[in-house]
Amino acid sequence: MFETTIAGSLPRPDWLAEPERLKGGWKLEGEALKEGQRRACREWIQHQEEAGIDILTDGEVYRRHFVHSFLEGISGIDQNKKTVMGIRDNRYDLEVPTVTEAVSRPAPVFLEDFKYTRSLTDKALKITLPGPMTICDTIANDHYGSRPEMAMAFAELLNQEARELEAAGADVVQFDEPAFNVFMNDVNEWGIDTLNRAVAGLKCTKAVHICYGYGIDENNRWKETLGDEWRQYDEIFPALNKSHIDQVSLECASSHVPLSVMRHLSDKHLMVGCVAVTPDRVESPEEVAATIKEAMKYVDAERILPCTNCGMTPIPYDIALAKIKALGQGAALARNSLQA
Ligand code: ZN
Repeated sequence: MFETTIAGSLPRPDWLAEPERLKGGWKLEGEALKEGQRRACREWIQHQEEAGIDILTDGEVYRRHFVHSFLEGISGIDQNKKTVMGIRDNRYDLEVPTVTEAVSRPAPVFLEDFKYTRSLTDKALKITLPGPMTICDTIANDHYGSRPEMAMAFAELLNQEARELEAAGADVVQFDEPAFNVFMNDVNEWGIDTLNRAVAGLKCTKAVHICYGYGIDENNRWKETLGDEWRQYDEIFPALNKSHIDQVSLECASSHVPLSVMRHLSDKHLMVGCVAVTPDRVESPEEVAATIKEAMKYVDAERILPCTNCGMTPIPYDIALAKIKALGQGAALARNSLQA
């Protein structure tokens, strides 16, 4: 009951990468970098186990960016042909590489690192991959006739990658789709189709992470424009409930999401965001338990997985550590109060 998990990323230690940055550069190179990433992964696996997290991740400490690190392993992309693109419906501009030919995956991208992570723990392990729609909102297109066509091509590659990760022992494969909260019509028209393509044939648990973004300034300013009730999930959850995905995440801590949107996901498990990913404060275990209790008004307890709102890459290491401890303790409180 109340199996805990995290959205995916955790801060990279300051000896490994520039801290508190989304794409902070590595401080090591070559073999030293590889060994450093493995050490950072070992430390986060241990921290998660000690915090009572049930479904662990590698903290994405092997990656510089949740989308581009995957794309660096894909052919058909000209990494030097930079295009300035308005990301997430022009929320912020980013200089991104350009797809210039049909994409292909010459070799597994995350498999080797994943096998190492798998060797570190017997607990359930989740691997995260960028979702097809979010990839297409984070790279320029100079080849495909349309965004849905490009997304389907990426979904095919993601599916190959996911099958290999599953075979290597992934218990959960999660696709990160923050773009789902921005292009709601597209989600219904083609986004869910491409997500279903990405998970086709997988027997492990299939998850999607949909959030309102990292706690960075651009996102925080955008969130201020969304009004008192954030209703984006209302528009996409009914179709997601019919998808082949098993678990759906949603941002609940310190957000303006009315938790009644959970009613749309009656056939799914819900990763309920119980800690925010802003650096200013750490939730108490009691607050985490209160969010779980609030979710229980709409979802059976068996379908609730307490989680973080989003990835924690950009926040200080110690704050993230305190937040995952609060998450574990809050879930334990909620379990105890059910048994009482
Ligand atoms: Zn997120």
